[in-house]
Amino acid sequence: MFDKILIANRGEIALRVLRACKELGIATVAVHSTADADAMHVRLADESVCIGPPPSKDSYLNIPSLLAACEITGADAVHPGYGFLSENARFAEILAEHNLHFIGPKAEHIRLMGDKIEAKKTAKKLGIPVVPGSDGAVGPEDDAMAIGEAIGFPVLVKAAAGGGGRGMKVAHTADELLMALSTASNEAKSAFGDASVYLEKYLTKPRHIEIQVLGDGRGGAIHLGERDCSLQRRHQKVWEEGPSPVLSAAARAKIGATCAKAMQDMKYLGVGTIEFLYEDGEFYFIEMNTRIQVEHPVTESITDIDLVLEQIRIAAGGDLPVTQDEVAIIGHAIECRINAENPETFRPSPGKITQFHAPGGLGVRIDSAVYQGYVIPPYYDSLVGKLIVHGKTRGECLMRLRRALDEMVVEGIETTLPLFRALVREPGIIDGDYHIHWLEQYLAGQAAKTKA
Ligand code: ADP
Repeated sequence: MFDKILIANRGEIALRVLRACKELGIATVAVHSTADADAMHVRLADESVCIGPPPSKDSYLNIPSLLAACEITGADAVHPGYGFLSENARFAEILAEHNLHFIGPKAEHIRLMGDKIEAKKTAKKLGIPVVPGSDGAVGPEDDAMAIGEAIGFPVLVKAAAGGGGRGMKVAHTADELLMALSTASNEAKSAFGDASVYLEKYLTKPRHIEIQVLGDGRGGAIHLGERDCSLQRRHQKVWEEGPSPVLSAAARAKIGATCAKAMQDMKYLGVGTIEFLYEDGEFYFIEMNTRIQVEHPVTESITDIDLVLEQIRIAAGGDLPVTQDEVAIIGHAIECRINAENPETFRPSPGKITQFHAPGGLGVRIDSAVYQGYVIPPYYDSLVGKLIVHGKTRGECLMRLRRALDEMVVEGIETTLPLFRALVREPGIIDGDYHIHWLEQYLAGQAAKTKA
């Protein structure tokens, strides 16, 4: 096992990793930018190192500073959390070159899945169903119109290096396609430094369903069921739940077995998520994330498996915690991502939290690094915290969620709490009858009502 882990992240995920380390008896090193000197993960870690000024590129993404922090503190492993360097294959390699362990998958797998075109080709080879689309990148030399016609409009232009919903454009007609190709490609070039784009059939009413996998790197791999992340705004997840309100046990077992088998064949190491769109009973692979996900507590709640702790154990050479037969899905869990944003305009609302009260009681979990008096800096994402509620059934879970949302207090800044309080009372949500465009349509409807 590792002796000392450096956590190369901030906010709630840094705290989440720290908690797992404490339980395992592993010493922790927090790193922080000058803007985060007062952060909770810094206060709770055994040691901390300031790694640079506020902009992420000068601190949390600054590899030489992180290496120096490992050197100074004698850390033997690095946990990257999510975002920042978590899917940077080169970072994993550099750590290895310095005899440091990267707590994550093998660099080759991070690289493979980081390129969405290659990821889709690999998925197809491994027997995973994919969204119909272009065979690879679509460049100026290609007849994009012909490819678009062959797939059938509407089509979606996507960036090979994409992430966070950026670099995606829908084209409903052949005329729109040319425009979409150039805007998506320019956006991809500036956001990711890679202009390659590809085409996919644009599904009009799918759900986003993802399968959590865990591999030991030696050919052993299991799946831990699914999360339904269909409630999104600008392709970003807002509410996640598991099990999906629309998936039968048989359908779960089938897609889960396909994913687990693929991970066994790849000799995948650590935690991963295979993301699908699901429409008319069919699954279509869109991408794989080779890291712990924001929404991992949903799976932890319904399987009673500590994913971050297992991630660390497995990275240190440990075995899978359970066999596939021992995985049981217990009850239902929902996660709400509460952001420091105006609940109607979604304008970021950084600043000082003057009052903070976290809800509690049976089945209620808060993953957050904020506290009363904490100032949310304007430089990073706007997540205030995640509220995760568990119940024996979806109905019980919703009942508890309603109560917990009403109990939670965050003052001094604007948050999206009012949005969740409204959502949890919406018939479409209560019935579980929603798809990936539902939330944006709902928000547009609400905005129209306010105007009238
Ligand atoms: P990113 O890596 O930017 O998050 P993904 O490929 O994971 O991109 O897609 C994010 C979201 O965009 C999906 O959950 C879905 O809502 C939407 N999306 C992606 N591909 C399609 C598609 N082919 N048709 C319709 N919506 C899509």
